[in-house]
Amino acid sequence: MRALSERFRPYEWALSTAEIARLAGIAPEQVLRFDGNTPPHPRPTSNVAAVERALARVNTYAHGGFPELLEAIADYAGVGTENIVLGAGADDLIMLVARSFAGPGDVVSVRDEPTYPVYRVSSWIAGAEVGDDDPVLTFVCRPHNPTGALVPLPDARPLAVDEAYFEYTGGKTAAGLLDDGVIVIRTFSKAFGLAGARIGYALAAVDTAAELNERQAPAPISSISAALALAGLADPPDVSETLEERDRLAAGLRGLDLEPASSWANFVYVPVAEAGALTDALLRKGLAVRGSAEGIRITPREAADDDVLLRRVAEALGR
Ligand code: PMP
Repeated sequence: MRALSERFRPYEWALSTAEIARLAGIAPEQVLRFDGNTPPHPRPTSNVAAVERALARVNTYAHGGFPELLEAIADYAGVGTENIVLGAGADDLIMLVARSFAGPGDVVSVRDEPTYPVYRVSSWIAGAEVGDDDPVLTFVCRPHNPTGALVPLPDARPLAVDEAYFEYTGGKTAAGLLDDGVIVIRTFSKAFGLAGARIGYALAAVDTAAELNERQAPAPISSISAALALAGLADPPDVSETLEERDRLAAGLRGLDLEPASSWANFVYVPVAEAGALTDALLRKGLAVRGSAEGIRITPREAADDDVLLRRVAEALGR
C-alpha cells in the first residue's frame, strides 16, 4: 500500500452505544447520546411508503441516475441540476473533493482548526500534506464544528465550504460563489435526519461539478437513500424547535456558570477546564457528549433528556 503522511491519523469514532451501556452498567436503550449532531428521532417523511417504489426495484441499478432527486435539490438549493454532485454523505464528497484537487506533493489548507477531522483525513489519504504553504485546496467548516461559529469565508480558491449545518443558519450560504471557485458541501444527515442513509451533495460551477462527477464512483448513493432524500425535500424540515431547545440548553448551562459559545448549528460548544474528565464522568452515567481538549460539544435532544444532562453536568462539576 502507498505510504501516507507521517502525520496521518485515521478518523476515530466515539464509543458505541453498547460499549457506553456496559461502562455505565445500564441497558443500551437508557444511553442518551448528545454527541452526534443528529436529531433525536427520524422525521415523519422517513417512512416505509417513501421507500416502497425503490424497494420494488432494488434488484436493478438506478440506470440514468436520480434526475428527480437532482431536480428537487436544485429547487431547494437555488441552483441548476448541472451544478450538483451526489455522494454518500458529506464525508464522501469531502473525500471526492480532496482526491480531485490534491495529490502527493500538494498542500491542503484546513481553516479554523481544530475542526472536523475528515478534511485532514481526506487530504492525507489523497497523498497530500496539510498546511498553509501555497495550498491547492482550502477547506472551511461553516458553521464551524465544534464551536458553531459562522466563521469568515476565506478568500482562498479553490475553496470547499462544508455547510453540513446549513439548515440551522437561516440561509447563510456560500452557494452564490460557485462561479468564483467555491464548492459547497451539504448533507441530509443533520436537519433532514438521514445520517444512517448516507446521502449528501456538493454544489459547484457547472464545469467543476462535471469533473467531480467524472471522478465520483459510478453509483455512489443507494436508490433507497435517494428515495428518502426525495421524500424529505418534498417537506423540508422546520428547525425552529431544535433551535429553541438548543437555546434553552445553553441558558441552562449558563445557569451553571458555564459559558456556551453562541451557535449557528444544532449543537452548543462549552469551553471547560478538564473537559476530558467531565466527558468521562458523563459517559459513566450513560450520557455521551463530544469531548475535546478544551471543551465539550452537546447536541440537544428533547427537553427531558437535556434536563437530565444539565443535572449530571452540575453534579460532575459540583455546582
Ligand atoms: N461535515 C461536518 C462538519 C460534520 O459535522 C459531519 C458529521 N459529523 C459531516 C461533515 C459528515 O456528514 P455525513 O453524515 O453527511 O457524511
